[in-house]
Amino acid sequence: SSGKDKLGIALVGLGNYSKGQLAPSLLETEHCYLSAIVTGTKEKEKEWAKKYNIPKGNIYNYENFDDIASNKDIDIVYIVLPNSMHAEFTIRAAKAGKHVICEKPMAVSVAECKAMIKACDDNNVKLSIGYRLQFDPYHKRIINLSKENTLGSINYVNADFAFTIGDPTQWRLKKDLAGGGALMDVGVYCIQACRYSFGQEPIALRAQAFNSGNEKFKEVNETITWQMEFPDGKISNSTTSYAMSVNSLFVSAQKGKAQLMPSYGYGGIKGFIKDEILEFPKFNQQQAQMDAFALNVKNNTDSIVPGEEGLKDMKVIEAIFKSLEQNGARIL
Ligand code: NDP
Repeated sequence: SSGKDKLGIALVGLGNYSKGQLAPSLLETEHCYLSAIVTGTKEKEKEWAKKYNIPKGNIYNYENFDDIASNKDIDIVYIVLPNSMHAEFTIRAAKAGKHVICEKPMAVSVAECKAMIKACDDNNVKLSIGYRLQFDPYHKRIINLSKENTLGSINYVNADFAFTIGDPTQWRLKKDLAGGGALMDVGVYCIQACRYSFGQEPIALRAQAFNSGNEKFKEVNETITWQMEFPDGKISNSTTSYAMSVNSLFVSAQKGKAQLMPSYGYGGIKGFIKDEILEFPKFNQQQAQMDAFALNVKNNTDSIVPGEEGLKDMKVIEAIFKSLEQNGARIL
């Protein structure tokens, strides 16, 4: 498949993110295109086939999914399902010999993340996680702070991401499908941001959970705050929630500060680094992310957001849940 001009991508799960962001972005990608769809909803088949010119033979469901193995139009499978389904479909895609992009959070446990990485290694396919922000020009500037030592040593990071959730019946509020509440969904962006702002891995953390008693949050946490310790006494502080609206990243360093607010959207990011107001032209994160992975596959190079990156965040998530179980104990 490496000789092909554009690699074929199969989207698995045609929900809001596939429909609103990924499929439209696949009309703008240079190195890949939407070649196939996998859906459990019969009515979506016709609609998508028409809109994106998908041939009948490239439409699958969750049962016959494994038949993609013999489909030459599919080079990459993009998993956009509820969180607890990520591991199963990543492993099935790997066994079918397809490269995989899996949405965040990578899975719902460290054990699943490890099994996904192993399945991709065993089947000689590449795995990357849908961490679109690592391709965004604003976040790349933040990532470069520690690499280029522009502001000297970074000593504090505050990363918060929360929104007010609607429909109480959605999968995001169900433990078996989501694996957890806001932490799994948007808190993972805060973990990522703290890790790439410092350019280091946390060495310990403590976490606290808050619950108003709202019926919506019977199965998953409503709000979690946590503090991470990084080498040399540096710390981060984060809040994630389904019951408030916060969206920011603040970095304090020896020689100045940086901030992105709002920070984690598909666009509309605003911010500064010391005296410089950051301003980049309109940018399609998803297009950049998918093109980068297609090039990784074509050129046999490493993704900047491989499965290992998702695993590191999942280790933090498990440590946060462990701290909560132990009434906020310090977890190493
Ligand atoms: P949606 O609920 O909008 O879509 C999920 C889709 O999964 C459904 O439409 C359905 O597609 C399929 N599905 C299969 N089984 C189930 C089930 N039991 N319950 C519900 N849906 C099922 O979710 P999103 O698109 O918002 O999120 C999907 C994934 O993408 C999540 O892991 C999320 O974290 C991630 N995401 C990432 C974003 C990013 O910026 N990187 C942004 C938004 C989401 P079908 O009808 O085709 O079978």
